[in-house]
Amino acid sequence: MKYGRKRVLVTGGAGFLGSHLCERLLGMGADVLCVDNFFTGSKDNIAHLMGNPYFEMIRHDVTAPLYVEVDEIYNLACPASPVHYQRDPVQTTKTSVHGAINMLDLAKRIGAKIFQASTSEVYGDPEVHPQTEDYRGSVNTIGPRACYDEGKRCAETLFFDYWRQHGTRIKVARIFNTYGPRMHPDDGRVVSNFIVQALEGRDITIYGDGSQTRSFCYCDDLIEGFIRLMASPDDITGPINLGNPGEFTMLQLAETVLRLTDSKAKLVFLPLPADDPRQRQPDITKARAVLDWQPTVALEAGLLRTIDYFRAKIA
Ligand code: NAD
Ligand code: UDP
Repeated sequence: MKYGRKRVLVTGGAGFLGSHLCERLLGMGADVLCVDNFFTGSKDNIAHLMGNPYFEMIRHDVTAPLYVEVDEIYNLACPASPVHYQRDPVQTTKTSVHGAINMLDLAKRIGAKIFQASTSEVYGDPEVHPQTEDYRGSVNTIGPRACYDEGKRCAETLFFDYWRQHGTRIKVARIFNTYGPRMHPDDGRVVSNFIVQALEGRDITIYGDGSQTRSFCYCDDLIEGFIRLMASPDDITGPINLGNPGEFTMLQLAETVLRLTDSKAKLVFLPLPADDPRQRQPDITKARAVLDWQPTVALEAGLLRTIDYFRAKIA
């Protein structure tokens, strides 16, 4: 970029994370182009940005090519909740794979730097704990989660092949479970489910016996990691884990949500979905060293902010 504002494309910009990223980029003085097909995203998430002259929105599916001029691309388009990515699994694979090819072709053509929202799901149901970037993962290629996991794995392959073959400047982040305001009330992921159920006094749905673990990162912390990775020198390609190493069982999460919402909702135990990972915790040694990044928002503090959001949303 020689003159004026940095032009930044955010695919999946009307989703949970994408909307926070668009907001952050506008705050940094960027000219933001948000692309979304509204599969799981919502205009409500970006309505407050619409009046800003440096914010534009295009309804577009990333499985089709896109011709625009930008300096940086953040590729976030893809449903992230198991409920939603399994709703149309073939489309999920197409979004990850064709979406990556289309965005990488665009980056190659215009010389833009490109960021990929990859996932801890590339580690599958991990035998290594906590997960480091050199762990190659344990994914069931034919299971119901494969459309997402293998789609994201193939996208990583494409990113590194464009880097090796064409010299495209790439940034690959492996994101661990992230939560916060603007998750959809029907998103289906555990944090939003438990909070909405607790606030509405409905049963809290624990899948399995609730002993499986996840590590939950607050959205603002994660977005800071995105920005630092994108701004890092060109030889920093990733993959790099971004997440909060604090690890909790789903039972602990449910009890914390009940306490913070002062809810009397009861726990119910439902079957564990197929291939549900037993445990997950990021090793963020690399992010600390390379990006000087680490999360700052503790689970209870982040949950309180998220609870406030849902209280207002479902009132
Ligand atoms: P989200 O479902 O809220 O957002 C995804 C957005 O992508 C939505 O706005 C959706 O409408 C859009 N989208 C889906 N398919 C599209 C397509 N074909 N073309 C254009 N837009 C499309 O989910 P999120 O939590 O904001 O996740 C954003 C990204 O981060 C995803 O790529 C996801 O895989 C990744 N990620 C998120 C987490 C997390 O915990 N939140 C963890 C790992 C990875
Ligand atoms: N889960 C649960 N109840 C719910 C939703 C999810 O117990 O209402 C569990 C799910 O089985 C998994 C964990 O919570 O073990 C995290 O699920 P989520 O869908 O949020 O993300 P994942 O990390 O599995 O992609």
